Amino acid sequence: PAKAFVTISSGCNNFCSYCIVPYLRGREISRNSAEIIDDVAKLTQKGVIQVTLLGQNVNSYGLDKGDITFPELLKKIARETDIKWIKYLSSHPKDFTDELIEVISSEDKVANYLHLAVQSGSNNVLEKMNRKYKIETYIDKIAKLKKLVPSLNLTTDIIVGFPGETSADFQDTVNLMKTVEFDDAYMYKYNTRENTYSSNNFADDVPDEEKLDRLQTIIDLQIDIRKNKKAGRIGDIFEVIPERKSKNNQNEILGLTKEDLMIIYNSPDFEIGKIVKMKAVKLIGNSLFGERI
Ligand code: SF4
Repeated sequence: PAKAFVTISSGCNNFCSYCIVPYLRGREISRNSAEIIDDVAKLTQKGVIQVTLLGQNVNSYGLDKGDITFPELLKKIARETDIKWIKYLSSHPKDFTDELIEVISSEDKVANYLHLAVQSGSNNVLEKMNRKYKIETYIDKIAKLKKLVPSLNLTTDIIVGFPGETSADFQDTVNLMKTVEFDDAYMYKYNTRENTYSSNNFADDVPDEEKLDRLQTIIDLQIDIRKNKKAGRIGDIFEVIPERKSKNNQNEILGLTKEDLMIIYNSPDFEIGKIVKMKAVKLIGNSLFGERI
């Protein structure tokens, strides 16, 4: 396989009010950086091209141990191993630093892909969620990164119908989506999760019908934004790892770009373990099509 995952930390210190993870998995514990670098180096010897570093909040990696920070870890992996592409999941906006922005923009091996869960566009809701950032800070950080990395593929998570979310709060989320123009978003309606702070302390007071309406509104909006963003990539050149053959057409290959976009191209050969170069030539529905160059 050309792709592999390496866990860099477990647990989480953040206690978002809707989330059970810190209670189930405990406090954040970072792995030793030398071990992680060794794991990545060994994977490259087996032909791995892309590694995804995993943690509930990779951005706070190393802070518990006083080991190197996450941006330093990325730099070390990029410079001390033969891995070609480095991706990571998940990032918390409050720990997304200028140092990390600098590393993403300057280290070629660090992919121009970021999943940065925003959850809501309303400061009132973010505070109740215990997310510990203001929406203005989130927008500023993204603007800084996009300026340095125009090809960035930015995805997010959004929850609608959080306890106490008013129509005005929801409109803040809609406005945020229009401002930031995420390439893609995972969108949910709030569901009470037992034994979380929010289920114990907040009434689930947005009617289900209203939650579904709000969810549909942002899904429709995101479909339009995604289409425009993908259309804007036509003519761009991509490096691609072939993933699999299409079920319907054996000459069609589905590949993953360094920006974590799926692209379809025609080729009689399925070049396992190679990076192929192509130009995006058209968009059909939600699918980007490329041609080998
Ligand atoms: Fe931690 Fe993520 Fe859960 Fe927040 S949502 S507590 S950052 S795992």
